[in-house]
Amino acid sequence: MQLYCFIAKDEFTIFLYCIRESVGIEPSSLDSGHFIVTTRGKFLQLLPVDCRVSTTCRTMEEDKEAVSAHLNGVSTGKREDYLEWPEYFMAVAFLSAQRSKDPSSQVGACIVNQEKKIVGIGYNGMPNGCDDDLLPWCRSAEDHLDTKYPYVCHAEMNAIMNKNSADVKGCAIYVALFPCNECAKLIIQAGLKEVIYLSDKYHNTPGMIASRRLLDLAGIQYRQFVPKRTQIVIDFNSINKFGKLNNTTE
Ligand SMILES: [Zn+2]
Repeated sequence: MQLYCFIAKDEFTIFLYCIRESVGIEPSSLDSGHFIVTTRGKFLQLLPVDCRVSTTCRTMEEDKEAVSAHLNGVSTGKREDYLEWPEYFMAVAFLSAQRSKDPSSQVGACIVNQEKKIVGIGYNGMPNGCDDDLLPWCRSAEDHLDTKYPYVCHAEMNAIMNKNSADVKGCAIYVALFPCNECAKLIIQAGLKEVIYLSDKYHNTPGMIASRRLLDLAGIQYRQFVPKRTQIVIDFNSINKFGKLNNTTE
């Protein structure tokens, strides 16, 4: 007899659930010698396990479907090309960037807490109440005051200031561009713990070198996000079509 279970790190995720529902065996009858399947969402590995099952298991619908499908030898037909969490958060940052009025650089940021909830979004723009028709957007001018730099708020600053939670301590920030040194200061002071960036195109500039120096000293992790797909298309018409959302492309 084989019993199957999804285990998510230390959680016996839906063990009792799938066994009761799909095989009809009560948890009390479990003992050693059964099998356990590791890795959430996919049956990758079968391992013998001592099945003293935690009674604090939690139900996760996705896992339940996958376990049932495996036990029944059928597919549930669940979509496979849905966005994974990191793609989703980075995409939110990129979507937010489309609000930017900066002609040369549109950057978005998305702050996510440990429960994978978005708690702040921002993009680069002029400060609240400052008419962005009255401020310059150029990158260079004879007078520094005629460039955007003294005025514009970066996406990271706006995401932190726009937070909808009491604070952003321990959160991760998804950003299109590696944060500059000014944003690194804000990230540190706000208590963020991780930076996930897509592009590092200014890597060798003094601002980025200073930024890494600060983040390193503060013990903030940073890592580059490598997307599996090059674009995500939002098709407003897809909702009117039957079945599959045509919102993703490889
Ligand atoms: Zn910045």
